[in-house]
Amino acid sequence: MSYRFEQASPEWQFAAVFNINRCLACQTCTMACKSTWTFSEGQEDMWWNNVETKPYGGYPQHWDVKTLDLLEKANPGGQSWGGSPAPGAPYGMYEGATIFEAGRTQGEYAVGYTPSDQEWSSPNIHEDSPVANGALAEGVTLPEHRTWFFYLQRICNHCSYPACLSACPRNAIYKRQEDGIVLIDQERCRGYRKCVEQCPYKKPMYRPNTRTSEKCIGCFPRVEGSDPLTGGLPMETRCMTACPGQIRLQGLVQVDENGDWIADPSNPIYYLVREEQMALPLYPQFGTAPNVYYIPPRWVPRPYLVQMFGPGVDGAIAAYERPSRRAQAVLQLFRVTQSIIFSFDVIEGEKVSEMNINGEVLEIFNDTVVGYGRDGQELVRVTVLEPQFERPAQYLNTI
Ligand code: SF4
Ligand code: SF4
Repeated sequence: MSYRFEQASPEWQFAAVFNINRCLACQTCTMACKSTWTFSEGQEDMWWNNVETKPYGGYPQHWDVKTLDLLEKANPGGQSWGGSPAPGAPYGMYEGATIFEAGRTQGEYAVGYTPSDQEWSSPNIHEDSPVANGALAEGVTLPEHRTWFFYLQRICNHCSYPACLSACPRNAIYKRQEDGIVLIDQERCRGYRKCVEQCPYKKPMYRPNTRTSEKCIGCFPRVEGSDPLTGGLPMETRCMTACPGQIRLQGLVQVDENGDWIADPSNPIYYLVREEQMALPLYPQFGTAPNVYYIPPRWVPRPYLVQMFGPGVDGAIAAYERPSRRAQAVLQLFRVTQSIIFSFDVIEGEKVSEMNINGEVLEIFNDTVVGYGRDGQELVRVTVLEPQFERPAQYLNTI
């Protein structure tokens, strides 16, 4: 893949895992973000975090199919995955054109388009609209329902090769050395909207009254640890910590000078993405190397998921459906503390049950997972089995 600038990797990279299987589309994340960062005049249509119903929903409408279409037009029939998994290419090698190569053929840094005002105006269009295909009469069976939809949670991916950054003629966009968060310098921005055009995820948004573009800032004051709530420890973003579905886990991973993650299987994000390969990037074929990873939904037809998350889908779903003993413990770390967990440990407990998943036995152990902060201090301790509390008889009808 080609990119406008030379490799300049951050020391740490902001990254997250979103478990699509658990999202209830309550939009608490969306409102947590809006009420923190985009509640002012001119930001009415600005939703840095949004949750859309796939396949029909989108904010802005059709953002992904339009970009896929641009790629197909630039490289007809050539957008395919191939090759065998190799170091640095765990799912094989992408053989198609990324947005950057496709852009070069048109004299641009990347292919893109500018959404219309109307496409920005309905952030939750088609909520809960399923794909039916007349299958209702036949009923549904796991692992793939014939009738399906799912919720896709989206923020800026703080990409390793941000298309917004390479698009900017003012060099107003930069990626921070300390955490890889991508920001738009409001002093330098002149509102040319090239970032809006060339970000394939459509996460920079134009603000008409200031005539500048704005985007998710990764709640950087929290990630820096300047919130007194955690006593100076790096803290997860507002959208992550507000999530009642407990679908989000955010962290920081260490990066080497080539842009690769430094191996650290005790980091929960590294563990889920690289060791278990349970979570995958969104539209990896775009080429920006996004840093939000998704555990794909189990009930959705695989070809659709492969188009969206690449060829690792079957493996990721298998790893989630029958999680290893260690993964069962790590999955308990979602949303149990506001501080960023830098490493974890598992203390083994008793076997508590056994079940059959797709013809194979899955054993459940009541292990305890311990999460540690930046300086190795213990932040949280959770068991695989949730503790149960029985309300005393005299309080049965009280709150
Ligand atoms: S807060 Fe969590 S469960 Fe609710 S919509 Fe957002 S990601 Fe989904
Ligand atoms: S998702 Fe878009 S706005 Fe965010 S860093 Fe990537 S290219 Fe830039």
